[in-house]
Amino acid sequence: MKFDRDVGLSAWCSFGTGGKAKWFCRAANAEEVSEAIEFASNRCDGAFAVIGAGSNIVISDQGFDGLVILLAGGDVSVGQDGLMVAAGGVVWDDAVSLACHAGFFGLERMSGIPGSVGAAPVQNIAAYGQALSDVFVSAEVVHPSGDVETWGSDRFSFSYRSSSVKTAPRPPVVTSVRLALLDSLALGSGGLYRDIEIALGGTDRESLSPGRLRETTLGVRRQKHLTWVGVDPAARHKNAGSFFVSPFVPMDLAVEVTSAAVGQQRAEEFIGWYSKTDSKPGLVKVSAAHVLLACGFSNGDRWGTVGLSPFHVLALTNFGGATSEELLGVAELIERRAREHLGIELEAEPRIMGDSLVRPETLTRLVSSYIPASGRKPDWVG
Ligand SMILES: Cc1cc2nc3c(=O)[nH]c(=O)nc-3n(C[C@H](O)[C@H](O)[C@H](O)COP(=O)(O)OP(=O)(O)OC[C@H]3O[C@@H](n4cnc5c(N)ncnc54)[C@H](O)[C@@H]3O)c2cc1C
Repeated sequence: MKFDRDVGLSAWCSFGTGGKAKWFCRAANAEEVSEAIEFASNRCDGAFAVIGAGSNIVISDQGFDGLVILLAGGDVSVGQDGLMVAAGGVVWDDAVSLACHAGFFGLERMSGIPGSVGAAPVQNIAAYGQALSDVFVSAEVVHPSGDVETWGSDRFSFSYRSSSVKTAPRPPVVTSVRLALLDSLALGSGGLYRDIEIALGGTDRESLSPGRLRETTLGVRRQKHLTWVGVDPAARHKNAGSFFVSPFVPMDLAVEVTSAAVGQQRAEEFIGWYSKTDSKPGLVKVSAAHVLLACGFSNGDRWGTVGLSPFHVLALTNFGGATSEELLGVAELIERRAREHLGIELEAEPRIMGDSLVRPETLTRLVSSYIPASGRKPDWVG
């Protein structure tokens, strides 16, 4: 294996920001990951981090003082019984495409999500009412000790946009995943997601194939510019998709937020849908996009080179020349506004690699550079 020194990481991250890795290597399987971990133990006190497609990560401008392992490549197959085995370095959408072409359901509404197969269980990827955990069987992981283990769902403790791997201080590397695909369409209690329902029109549910649902999903994602570049060459925006996870709040707050965002009439429809699909005892999910809108932010707001996508308010975007500190600074300003205005704690979805410090002077500069898409600065901006 080849270990390179001082490798710039911005090219490996969808934000296009971040410093250098002290050491960098590519790995494609458990054996190579174990070798890389051994290198990290000998050369950088065991400090290592893994990246796949870099579509859900903010890399510190100071870089990473250890070994960055880029997991890429490997094979994916699906048996007649619907068991899919995919290497961690396989492009996620290639696995979805294979499943749909083989006639299996279970992944079709997760079409077009950027990233690698190995990262998929890390934050339990999900879209349009379908989640990885619905079809997950087990994964091969390489523990930070270098040992190779097989983990079932119990070890991953999947939850909404999270797993034990996402929150572990020293997480393992997922080197392959086994999924049990379905031979018929499975709809959760919420039915098909609203946007997909609308795009399908009155199509008879019985006649829906995995391929038809994949194409419909990709069409919906294209409208929001949230597709994988492999399937949509126009999708070259420097962001990580939704930057904030949708929070769970008491029902009265959900009504207040959603009504402020989309009006009272449509709020009932959204809350009805969320309370069927995503709720916790005494709490209901409210869209993080609606939280931002209710706070007064909107698509196209800018803080210098950082802004909210004109197509998707939740997609914090590097419009060219931004630093990771500036991206994290804008995220901090949005979180502060949500806390002060609505009492809601927003949680960032991407992981931060390396130091995440935002200096007070950077925050001050960002506040003064804020230009809302409407062109009029609101009173609450200091
Ligand atoms: C335009 C856009 C749209 C998106 N839409 C969605 C969506 O609809 N739903 C959704 O859930 N997500 C979405 N995302 C987020 C992202 O695509 C997923 O989180 C994806 O799984 C990240 O994969 P990656 O390979 O790019 O991970 P990276 O960004 O490389 O890494 C993310 C985290 O996972 C860790 N990691 C990566 N690979 C491994 C591995 N093999 N083993 C262990 N840890 C690993 C990294 O260390 C890091 O902490 C979107 C992102 C973008 C840019």
